[in-house]
Amino acid sequence: MTNPMPAPEVEHSDPLDDTREKDESMPREASSIELKGLRKQFGKDTVALDGVDLTIDAGEFFTLLGPSGCGKTTLLRILAGLEEPDAGKLLIGGKDVTDIPPHRRSVNTVFQSYALFPHLSVRDNLAFGLRMRGESSAERERKVAQVADFIQLGSLVERRVDQLSGGQRQRIALARALVCEPNVLLLDEPLSALDAGLRGQLQVELQRIQKRLGMTFVFVTHDQDEAMVMSDRIAVLDSGIIQQVGTPSEVYEHPVNAFVARFMGHDNLFAIQRSADNWVDTELGRLQLDPAQQRSEQQGWLLIRPETLELGGEVPAGYNRLEGTVKERLYRGSRIEYRLEVNGVTLMAVASNVGQRLHAVGDRVTVSFCPEDLVRVAA
Ligand code: ADP
Ligand code: MG
Repeated sequence: MTNPMPAPEVEHSDPLDDTREKDESMPREASSIELKGLRKQFGKDTVALDGVDLTIDAGEFFTLLGPSGCGKTTLLRILAGLEEPDAGKLLIGGKDVTDIPPHRRSVNTVFQSYALFPHLSVRDNLAFGLRMRGESSAERERKVAQVADFIQLGSLVERRVDQLSGGQRQRIALARALVCEPNVLLLDEPLSALDAGLRGQLQVELQRIQKRLGMTFVFVTHDQDEAMVMSDRIAVLDSGIIQQVGTPSEVYEHPVNAFVARFMGHDNLFAIQRSADNWVDTELGRLQLDPAQQRSEQQGWLLIRPETLELGGEVPAGYNRLEGTVKERLYRGSRIEYRLEVNGVTLMAVASNVGQRLHAVGDRVTVSFCPEDLVRVAA
């Protein structure tokens, strides 16, 4: 269950104070988070977190991304104080809170399953945490009206939660966490139960709310697109170990290893057979590399992003050039995906669907790409 009683011990500005301009950013006391050597094991052999070191800046939209079972929820529960680590330290706002109980951390959680009271009205759901905290009824009334207005659900406060749609419930779950004014908001896959359209809309809204309030958000998802569109930075987790931390473009364009590359949706990974400073051999043949690019010691993998490939047309000087056959063409509306066969190997290419000549299945095509767009990835 959610923790409805985060009694902040610090006085801070009221993020929902209606004397301020609604559309201006509302600076508040956000907290940084520091995790040092965090470890958590369940039973004899399930290591949920295997030595996690991580720093999250105050006011950052930070996302934990990884497959099911990689330890995301465990990490969030430790931040909330609902789970105790076996080893390591946790600092929030520079203060060691490892042994501080949940209700004394200025942290609140939004769960995937809403955790609302279905038979109560929106107003009573929103006021619940404030009531537990012993705030006066006038104060509760004022804060609930503000937060309902803020998330654009003002007209629904009298409704019972079980009369609302999934998207409305998710917004109420968020509002209920916001109304308590935590310095850190934890969100565990809060959008995964929603359909695609609504999900996209709430992704944008959530990001806007976070920027307006300037709160620290720690968001959990297994969906790399969602992570990229919302986050300032992303930590990719696998088997309780952080694989990479970076901005969305760093993680997508320069994955540090094959796991991260695959998880970010990259298909075009080719084992490096031999390499030098400015070339690599793979099953595709010999390809020119940008010599300025960092050379990793491992043989590893070569990553070719489908959107960097040019099909047909002139090949600029210095570019790599391959010949392939179109094996499959997938129409995606705004873009066209091609599955090509090059030297007996599958290579995926993506072309934007604007003023491009379509290539048909069976066509021979020239594939060209710039050496700078090739990325070496560790095994
Ligand atoms: P995620 O949220 O990334 O899907 P979790 O943090 O829920 O992953 O789980 C990480 C691992 O720890 C999984 O193998 C899971 O089965 C295990 N686990 C989580 N909570 C418990 C628990 N209370 N008891 C036993 N094993 C658990
Ligand atoms: Mg989980």
